[in-house]
Amino acid sequence: MKIIDYMQRYDYEQLVFCCDTGTGLNAIIAIHDTTLGPALGGARMWPYQSEEAAILDVLRLARAMTYKAAAAGLNLGGGKAVIIGDPAKDKSIGLFRSLGRFIESLNGRYITTEDVGTSIDDMQHIRAETTHVTGLPLSWGSSGDTSPLTGFGVYQGMKACVKEVFGADSLQGRTVAIQGFGKVGSHLARYLHDEGARIVATDVNEEASQRAQQEFGATLVNADEIYDVECDVFSPCALGAVLNARTIPRLKCQIVAGGANNQLEEDEDGDRLQQRGILYAPDYIINAGGIINISVELTGYDPELARTQVAEIYHTMARVIALAKLEGISTARAADRLARNRIEEARRVRRIYL
Ligand code: NAD
Repeated sequence: MKIIDYMQRYDYEQLVFCCDTGTGLNAIIAIHDTTLGPALGGARMWPYQSEEAAILDVLRLARAMTYKAAAAGLNLGGGKAVIIGDPAKDKSIGLFRSLGRFIESLNGRYITTEDVGTSIDDMQHIRAETTHVTGLPLSWGSSGDTSPLTGFGVYQGMKACVKEVFGADSLQGRTVAIQGFGKVGSHLARYLHDEGARIVATDVNEEASQRAQQEFGATLVNADEIYDVECDVFSPCALGAVLNARTIPRLKCQIVAGGANNQLEEDEDGDRLQQRGILYAPDYIINAGGIINISVELTGYDPELARTQVAEIYHTMARVIALAKLEGISTARAADRLARNRIEEARRVRRIYL
């Protein structure tokens, strides 16, 4: 892999390799773009099979964070950290403090938070070395678990799509098929249930499926059957890459709107959905509730303000739909354009005042 070529192609600013033989830390921090503000993105811990896999992952994830923050209207850039290691075996206080010192050395260009394989406890150890960390416990004046507001944001984005397709934004009597009944899926289901939607659900975890049935009267289907369910909205809330050339032809919905990250397996899948007449809510537009919540934490946490800002996802989604119609492009491409326009506008303004 030609790293600098790749970085130039996608406009990356910085890639930082962090090694500390004393604590066993092997980590990589990627800063994609800080035009709009410091690069925010979680620290992921994963037993990557190769250094190349870790580098590619951190670069891709950092760029996605730039787009997510920009489209949400936040004054934040995109970054990410990966720690190469098994979260079940390789964690120690020293390891996270060591990562904290590397983050501190970046002087606020990168702000970290929890991600796959890391927890609030790990963030507390990082906080011992740097203030450039969020996702700390509520008792520390922080915003706590991000999933309730992520679920609320997905609900708002879904309503904007329902308004576009059915003329009114009510979910009453609509059928929503939820793939993955974890934290985000459950919070979303609460709003849908309260508004009178019918829920079809699947989860590979039996306990989660039972909860969907008992708490929300959901009809359960097997994991693979969810793509064939006749419904108004298909809502992926589990894994990435679930929308692809194999699954899109099977969908029997008019809208796809869910909380999972990186739902499209490849860029063309956004076009495939458009060609099938299915309105796709780009994942990073409607699952931005978590990052919006964290952005409020950075200036002094106020839960009411966070909720009000997350509700704006409704209007952001409506703007994406309007742009897609105007330009005759997919909503996925319209979302990218919205994010890029905001960054380019900020660069133009900066050039004028330099
Ligand atoms: P979670 O682990 O609580 O829930 C995921 C659920 O999906 C689990 O119950 C799991 O059993 C289930 N699942 C896994 N594979 C499945 C499959 N093949 N079919 C059906 N179910 C399956 O995670 P979460 O916090 O709810 O996050 C869900 C998704 O939303 C992830 O993609 C995550 O990256 C994304 N996301 C989460 C947040 C947040 O604030 N938690 C923010 C933005 C994006």
